[in-house]
Amino acid sequence: MSSENGADCFHRSKEFLECIAACIRGPVALAHSYQAEDTVALDILIKVRIKELEVFTLDTNRLFPELNVHHKVLEDFFGITIKRCHPDTDEERELESAQGEFGMRDSLEARRFCCRVRKVKPLANFLRGKSAWFTGLRASQSVTRADMRIIEYDKQFKLIKLNPLVDWSEDDVNRYIKENGLPVNPLYAKGFRSIGCAPCTRTVKAGEDIRAGRWWWENPENRECGCMVKNRREREQDVSTIKLG
Ligand code: SF4
Repeated sequence: MSSENGADCFHRSKEFLECIAACIRGPVALAHSYQAEDTVALDILIKVRIKELEVFTLDTNRLFPELNVHHKVLEDFFGITIKRCHPDTDEERELESAQGEFGMRDSLEARRFCCRVRKVKPLANFLRGKSAWFTGLRASQSVTRADMRIIEYDKQFKLIKLNPLVDWSEDDVNRYIKENGLPVNPLYAKGFRSIGCAPCTRTVKAGEDIRAGRWWWENPENRECGCMVKNRREREQDVSTIKLG
């Protein structure tokens, strides 16, 4: 999935987003989880002047403290507000009394329950009423993303989902960040290669998979939070039936 020429993948993504910008109507959202990919997607979306763009992050209340500073850096750099979507207070209280601080590591069910309360439900609430949502996901990031497409229908949220960086490699992302002087999450310099909640993310060693530090105690096939369905069957829809706007 790696692109031979970084400029090619940028132009492909830009052309795709210009086409989307010309035909989509109504509010659209970009999920930003402080990954380098999300910052690249945000930069291109701003450059193609996508209208009614709302940028948000899922602030699970379990993020690394460094991300508070990076959040402000991103807002200042792009001159935007990034909305923080928090879990429901009562549901979070129930979750914490059931699991304690690290109960999400006890079983797959416990972990998915935590992700549902802290991520999936706030995401569903935020996406309600939107025309589409953008992500910075790449197909080569993990086995759970290998068959993703640039445009999909997200059955879970009943919404068009657009993945403009689908065929970018990690090198493409890093090159774009450098060439455009974009802000970088300080956790990358500490050895993280994919950033999630603090209890569920560790640094990775040389040669390890980029997402090996996410939910590292689980099988790679399960390493998604529930916001992203994990295979084509679950998200399959004939793209010719998708209507924009
Ligand atoms: S990544 Fe971990 S802490 Fe964050 S919501 Fe999922 S289980 Fe909970």
